[in-house]
Amino acid sequence: MEKLKPYHTFGLDVSADGISFLEKTEDCISFLRHRNPKLLLGCGSDVLFTENFSGQIGIMRTAGVDICEDQECYHVRASAGEIWHKLVASLTYQGIAGLENLALIPGTCGAAPVQNIGAYGREFSDFCEYVEAVDASGSVVRFAPAECAFGYRFSRFKGEWRDRLVITAIGLRLPKRWKPVLDYGPLRSLQTVSDLKPVDLLEHIVEIRRARIPDPAVLGNAGSFFQNPVVDEPCCQRLREEFPDVPAFSLGNGSFKVPAGWLIDRAGLKGFRYHNAGVYDKQALILVNYGGAEPADLMELARHVAGCVYDRFGVRLHPEVRIFGKTGEISLD
Ligand SMILES: Cc1cc2nc3c(=O)[nH]c(=O)nc-3n(C[C@H](O)[C@H](O)[C@H](O)COP(=O)(O)OP(=O)(O)OC[C@H]3O[C@@H](n4cnc5c(N)ncnc54)[C@H](O)[C@@H]3O)c2cc1C
Repeated sequence: MEKLKPYHTFGLDVSADGISFLEKTEDCISFLRHRNPKLLLGCGSDVLFTENFSGQIGIMRTAGVDICEDQECYHVRASAGEIWHKLVASLTYQGIAGLENLALIPGTCGAAPVQNIGAYGREFSDFCEYVEAVDASGSVVRFAPAECAFGYRFSRFKGEWRDRLVITAIGLRLPKRWKPVLDYGPLRSLQTVSDLKPVDLLEHIVEIRRARIPDPAVLGNAGSFFQNPVVDEPCCQRLREEFPDVPAFSLGNGSFKVPAGWLIDRAGLKGFRYHNAGVYDKQALILVNYGGAEPADLMELARHVAGCVYDRFGVRLHPEVRIFGKTGEISLD
């Protein structure tokens, strides 16, 4: 058995039958041909293990970034094992702008398309030119963004293509004409800053995130534990009548997104603790390992949170974090 603690950000004492490091495309193909159960990880920053994993873990370690340009855009190709934030910071400091809102999101470049990472009004799909992947036959396929079916924390890599492909590289298209996106609450103060530079925005976002989101190296977590639920109009109206301050955002198709953190907070759970796991006291959407938490503590806590929110608001929460049991992905229920 090999310890998984260094390879996922919840910092739980779990192990796997074996761990291999995937450094080149051939390693990815061999991994896909390995018997099940098996699980591919980047930095393990979006996963919760509920017990020891009875199979092989492959950890993406491929490296390399290439940049070319035409008159209008930079085209960046990054290997799947590159660290996302390192790429964002390095590009921004080189004067290649666009990705600032997605700064400090933990994880690898190869995992970024899987749940279409997003923050502060921007998503991976806003910049995606292509995603390259291999299958078990060894074929390399290049997918255009439309083929990936990107949605809110979703793509086909998380849906029907799950477990069948290893993403080996991403291609990004970054227009040379920089248009900062500053609509999200905490960024609005920058709207009046004259001569705002991409580096200023990057540093502002890093500062906000450091103040609000626990550093997994200090307090184990996997970022937002739940997705923001999308509700229909009658449900939204009912919530607004009962809770006039509910922050519901219209998605323009008769449905509304409600911040899960607000629901958890208003259910009185911010700071709630269950054994050594808890709801983070500065951001109710994040569940944390205060040190020595058992996987069962986090599962119980997550179920309790989802249950309390349902009882209070009649709204179901669904995990954003991917949950893995002994032989593969499982649901929270
Ligand atoms: C403190 C903190 C803050 C966070 N903030 C945000 C945020 O603001 N926005 C956001 O969207 N997310 C956020 N997250 C979640 C996480 O950072 C992202 O989901 C990230 O993309 C996960 O990358 P990873 O390499 O750690 O993937 P892992 O957790 O290792 O894997 C996640 C899933 O992707 C699959 N996968 C990984 N690599 C590949 C590959 N190369 N090919 C195919 N499948 C693959 C895995 O099998 C697994 O199912 C946060 C997490 C933490 C800990």
